[in-house]
Amino acid sequence: MRAIVIHQAKDLRIEDCLAEQPGPGEVAIKLASGGICGSDLHYYNHGGFGAVRLKQPMILGHEVSGHITALGDGVSSFAIGDLVAVSPSRPCGHCSYCAQGQHNHCENMRFYGSAMPFPHIQGAFREQLVAMESQCVKADGLTAGQAAMAEPLSVCLHATRRAGELLGKRVLITGSGPIGSLCVLAARAAGAVEIVVTDLSDAALAYATKVDADRVINTGTDPDALNAYATGKGSFDVLYECSGAAPALTGAIPAMRPRSVIIQLGLGGDMTLPVQAMTAKEIDLRGSFRFHEEFATSVRLMQAGQINVEPLISHTMQLDDAVAAFELAGDRSQAMKVQLSFG
Ligand SMILES: [Zn+2]
Ligand SMILES: [Zn+2]
Repeated sequence: MRAIVIHQAKDLRIEDCLAEQPGPGEVAIKLASGGICGSDLHYYNHGGFGAVRLKQPMILGHEVSGHITALGDGVSSFAIGDLVAVSPSRPCGHCSYCAQGQHNHCENMRFYGSAMPFPHIQGAFREQLVAMESQCVKADGLTAGQAAMAEPLSVCLHATRRAGELLGKRVLITGSGPIGSLCVLAARAAGAVEIVVTDLSDAALAYATKVDADRVINTGTDPDALNAYATGKGSFDVLYECSGAAPALTGAIPAMRPRSVIIQLGLGGDMTLPVQAMTAKEIDLRGSFRFHEEFATSVRLMQAGQINVEPLISHTMQLDDAVAAFELAGDRSQAMKVQLSFG
């Protein structure tokens, strides 16, 4: 079987590797769809991000779906042929964080396609994948592409839970990439009444409009547009910061209400923040990292028709064209979510 392996920056190869057999409690999956994520792009473009560097070849990918082809001993919840979304989250289940239900903070996490630990955790962009039964969620009624969106949607659902109650709230989202755009859907599903999205790219903002953001603002060409939201000590109850860019966060502070909540999702390295203004407004700054139990919720919300991710899948390309797909995924003037078709 073939897999997509990153060796170093700009050195992405399609390689043959051995298919595994499912052990007890495991299933074999013929991959159908794999979404290219920002972290995959960091490995492709820069060989890593921050202090995380590739030290050995690694199979990329963690946003995947496919069809069950074989069942290991004891597997009872799936049948051959089932379409499943596969969660890349594999916590150990026995460390102190797992015991507290904070699985995303597992001390022994084996998240697909991550060079954080060494040896690296191999990813899921491979024609055949063996996964634990517990990682899989039946995705009947969805397309393979929609099922593969469960992972980034889970990131946004986790962020939404970190934000607290959103019913009737006004929300600002900075950064209209796949995560920012999916946060529009997540915030709406959670009851937000007004959602404003900012970015520097009109092409990216067009996707926020497609998923029914109430207003989009290009803060590059219209730098004063947020001023109108700063009157009366601010307008927004929640900020999802999805750009990782310090000017986006600092520029949003005047528009935030006292005791509002900022959820930091973007990973852009260190930032200098207006702590004085944030303190005077009693703003809560909260990180959000990955997800765990939200994965199954993502699939259910899509199946129930409460969240429609379809407008955000901008391109579907064949496995053979993986390099071109990675180039396209990095081009914000064209692409939102680029998915690879393995079937
Ligand atoms: Zn991802
Ligand atoms: Zn653990």
